[in-house]
Amino acid sequence: MWLLLLACHPCTLTDWDDLAVRIDAGVDEDTLDGLLRVLDQFIGWSGREQSCVRTLTVRSDYDLVREGYGAGGSYRSTTGELQVSTAFEDPETGLLHELCHATWQQDRAWREDRELFPRGSLDRGDGKGADREEVFALTCEVGPQQALRQAWVQEQCGVGVTDRDPASLQRVQEAVYGEAAAGADWGPAGEPAPVGPTWTVSEPEPDLQLTGVDAGLDHVVVAWSSRAEEGRVIVEHRAPQDGAVAIRHELQACGPAPYLCLVSLLAGPDGPWLFADGGTQVEEQRLWQLLPTGPVEHPTLCEQGDGEVVVDGTMWELAWNWREDDGGREVTGLWVDGCQVDSGQAVREILPMPSFPLRGWRLTWTEPTLTWVGQDLAVWWPDAGLSGSGEQGWAEQELPPHLDLAGVAPGPDGELGFLVQTEDLDGGHTLGLSTLWPAAGTWEAPTPTCEVLPAPIETDDTWAATGEVEARLLRGRGWGALARRAPGEQEWNVTVAALR
Ligand SMILES: [Zn+2]
Repeated sequence: MWLLLLACHPCTLTDWDDLAVRIDAGVDEDTLDGLLRVLDQFIGWSGREQSCVRTLTVRSDYDLVREGYGAGGSYRSTTGELQVSTAFEDPETGLLHELCHATWQQDRAWREDRELFPRGSLDRGDGKGADREEVFALTCEVGPQQALRQAWVQEQCGVGVTDRDPASLQRVQEAVYGEAAAGADWGPAGEPAPVGPTWTVSEPEPDLQLTGVDAGLDHVVVAWSSRAEEGRVIVEHRAPQDGAVAIRHELQACGPAPYLCLVSLLAGPDGPWLFADGGTQVEEQRLWQLLPTGPVEHPTLCEQGDGEVVVDGTMWELAWNWREDDGGREVTGLWVDGCQVDSGQAVREILPMPSFPLRGWRLTWTEPTLTWVGQDLAVWWPDAGLSGSGEQGWAEQELPPHLDLAGVAPGPDGELGFLVQTEDLDGGHTLGLSTLWPAAGTWEAPTPTCEVLPAPIETDDTWAATGEVEARLLRGRGWGALARRAPGEQEWNVTVAALR
């Protein structure tokens, strides 16, 4: 009789509410928050009230009792002890991996289907073939959202993005992550976004240098500065579909007789602006809104020359302090400085300090991007979240960590378009598009475009270009364009993708 019971319940089932959690003193708060979030997410995705985990220990050392070859974790089926160590890289995947081992214990049915999770089909992490349980855990640790996105790219674009077996992945999705549809919150996969032909931004005449590329609602704007004639600027409004120059304007940005004229293209909700700084013995700053009907100059006393966006009559620039130590980078002060275009009056907005509880965001922290939602300012923190200003002041919003977001561009209706990258088996990245509606906090399923960025070129010279293709998203009304350029290149290649 007890044998039969053992077969049905191979472990002592514990309610998630009764799980004992122990945390080492050396575990930092952000990392712990990230781990607890993964645990909550897993419970939600599985839809189960009980598991084969009795205790969870979060450690900060390397001294794990290792049974499997997961990333920095261990699970003992006999005692229900799950340990994960933050000393290893990516403890969140480590935790998910061990939770998967516990699920293998809970569901004996896995073992009966010999076709699934074939022994030796995956590397267990040390060059040796994994046993069936390990193959299962490695397939399950991918999580439902990542698996769904990878499946879409594989099916729709015919690009190999995962070494996991599709049938095994699907089985895991159905049986382990049965409630994940709510977690992914994406609905069914969209058709791939149809993309138009690629056109290249090239000089309309010799001796010009590219100043900037941006988007208006119905056109792509390209600005060029003359090398031969200081202060002479050519602005092109091009049709996004084929790059044909619809309108060309020329203006003298500094003068008269400038000896040095610094010109920059600034983005804004109503289309790009052009800022010029310097020129004569009397320092001057000039500002134009680049409308299709022609550049409209706004008298300005604004003195900053590297403002990033012009929103609602104010030229905004992002500023922050950060310190760097062994633990990575940490932001210590954060604000945006504004200058009202017509009066020159200075404005400062203090942003809340980012406290996104995401894995390793301090370590992967890269420069934030200033953008906008409607007519309000927003800041995108890659790998972390979005800070937005509004009537209630500044507020933060997390972004899904399972989407590899490579670029942002505001849409015409208060939405934010994101460029999503899915890495393939050759190290390249298939580009997709995903839309966030910040007011509702909802995401649309990422749509693959099937455009692929090649793998970065390895280089020994750390001062040389990184070898990564630079990618940007341009958004207008009803269209989005992928702009990309090779390392060290000036020219952009632009492809328009139809958006819903
Ligand atoms: Zn394992």
